[in-house]
Amino acid sequence: MTITVGQLHSWLRIFADLISEHTDELTQLDSAIGDADHGTNMQRGTAAVLAALDDNPPEDAAALFKQAGMALVSKVGGASGPLYGTFFIRAAASAGPVAELEPHDFAKLLRAGLEGVVARGKPDPGDKTMFDALSPAVEAADQTLDGGASLTDALAAAEAAANSGRDATIPMLARKGRASYLGERSIGHQDPGATSAALLITAAARALG
Ligand code: ADP
Ligand code: MG
Repeated sequence: MTITVGQLHSWLRIFADLISEHTDELTQLDSAIGDADHGTNMQRGTAAVLAALDDNPPEDAAALFKQAGMALVSKVGGASGPLYGTFFIRAAASAGPVAELEPHDFAKLLRAGLEGVVARGKPDPGDKTMFDALSPAVEAADQTLDGGASLTDALAAAEAAANSGRDATIPMLARKGRASYLGERSIGHQDPGATSAALLITAAARALG
């Protein structure tokens, strides 16, 4: 079972749709522990991704993710733009200029993207960031595929792990980004970036699962 560039493009489209559906929720979460712009940042960023891809439809996975990453970096002012942008630019390098990917290659590009987020933002586990949703998802995808399961099962496991990771940010004390300025007052709120990151994994499960 291979993954086509068209399916990868659908992943980004579905992500943009989910962000649009959840813009207000993301902004509300960010109003509790940040500056109330995560929904609009992500909405603007994902709309820019789709526009860039429409203008110049990519023929290979590296071109697709590179364009997506550049659009996010250039169109989103907040912390999330460079973080998601780096995720996709690293994913592009991992995937390479190919028209089709194997499930294992997809798990690899997710891990490369996560490593990009780590390189850029230096989040540690439990810092209450997008890392806390993405990292368990990447682990779950890898483990499920290594166990011989299908991509569908691997992405379902990744989605469940991302959602649990997102929920687990609620009791955490923020140690990175704006929310960290609140110290103890950040406890009891779900992290906005972990929430959008879980949507990224849900989108992958819908597009590729
Ligand atoms: P800003 O904080 O600049 O307003 P956003 O509101 O768009 O940007 O994004 C905030 C989200 O970015 C946080 O909820 C968190 O998940 C993520 N984030 C912030 N700083 C970091 C970091 N250093 N490492 C990883 N993720 C981070
Ligand atoms: Mg913000």
